[in-house]
Amino acid sequence: MTTTTSKPAPGNTFQPAFGQRLHVGRPNIGDNARFLARVQDMLDRRVLTNDGPYVQEFEAKLATMLGVRHAVLMCNATVALEIAIRALGLTGEVIVPSFTFIATAHALQWQEITPVFCDVRPGSHHIDPDRVRELITPRTTGIIGVHLWGEPCDVDGLTAVANRYGLRLLFDAAHAFACTSNGRMIGSFGDGEVFSFHATKFLNTLEGGAVTTNNDEFAAKMRLMRNFGFAGYDKVIYIGTNGKMNEVSAAMGLTNLESIGDFINSNRRNYLLYREQLADLPGVRLWQYLDGDDRNYQYVVLEIDDTAFGISRDALMHLLWANNVLARRYFFPGCHRMEPYRSFFPHAHFLLPETERLAGRVLQLPTGTGVSMQDITVICSLIRRASNTGIATTS
Ligand SMILES: *Cc1c(COP(=O)(O)O)cnc(C)c1O
Repeated sequence: MTTTTSKPAPGNTFQPAFGQRLHVGRPNIGDNARFLARVQDMLDRRVLTNDGPYVQEFEAKLATMLGVRHAVLMCNATVALEIAIRALGLTGEVIVPSFTFIATAHALQWQEITPVFCDVRPGSHHIDPDRVRELITPRTTGIIGVHLWGEPCDVDGLTAVANRYGLRLLFDAAHAFACTSNGRMIGSFGDGEVFSFHATKFLNTLEGGAVTTNNDEFAAKMRLMRNFGFAGYDKVIYIGTNGKMNEVSAAMGLTNLESIGDFINSNRRNYLLYREQLADLPGVRLWQYLDGDDRNYQYVVLEIDDTAFGISRDALMHLLWANNVLARRYFFPGCHRMEPYRSFFPHAHFLLPETERLAGRVLQLPTGTGVSMQDITVICSLIRRASNTGIATTS
């Protein structure tokens, strides 16, 4: 992990700024005692999984909070995406951004549906509906928009394209729990929206996910599919898999849900401090959350302009890593440059100039309830010093 930028000069003993690693995606954890009490009740009841009382309670609370008819809990968001894609009957080609976590693409390819990678709109980090339109072929059956960083993608634009061409529309809302789009909660747009409750996400259930929808038939089909297709004892009426959420996860979800106000407050406080401390630093652009809508502020995303900053994004990352700050390059290098897509579509990058540009510049910094204001001050001073060093050595 030590690199040329951070190697101590001979004779010096290098001391990392942090004794312990500070990761991006440190879990947000609510009230321990309430979680443990729920787990104790679960043990007393001896109901550990299979649509247990915590799963049902959590589903009802999610649906109410998001203002949607159905929340179908799953074991994780990747399986939730796979089930949603299958239950909607998608086949052939589905248009997705390449600037997303690999699971968005894998959930399609896993069932031999081709992900067709679409570029992001310049100036945004989100899929561009105008580019989507150009990628539609007779084999296209759907679009998956991704609400990156809890910021909604262009819901209206994608809905218009989907309606115009008779396509299904799903949203990967893995980042967007407790966020709104024009005042409306994310969760009820398109045919369905998929949330992740992985440990690193804003709201976690250890591992977990959900699909939310207003479509009764789609919800019923997903409930069958997540439980092997069982419609009653000894009665299987559909092909299915095992996508069930267990009761410990649902207990964690219920507990964490009670603390989301605190999570948002810490994240927002952290974000504003980063914004203040990096404000006038040349070559560093912090992703700006727009005021007005609700955000969970779970992601602190920098774009580094190598030339103006003085050292490269990767050199900065290695320097932070050497100081035990595990900054991450989400989403480098883009799905289209990962296997199997890189081999399938070796020329995909020609159609993805914005994705390529962004993938070379982004860097995420640690935040969440596990990161203090003092930590952020130290991280920002490391970044400032890195910039100064770079300018000194290049001029
Ligand atoms: C985390 C994530 C997923 C996958 O979620 P899991 O619950 O880990 O399977 C999918 N899409 C995006 C955009 C993500 O960030």
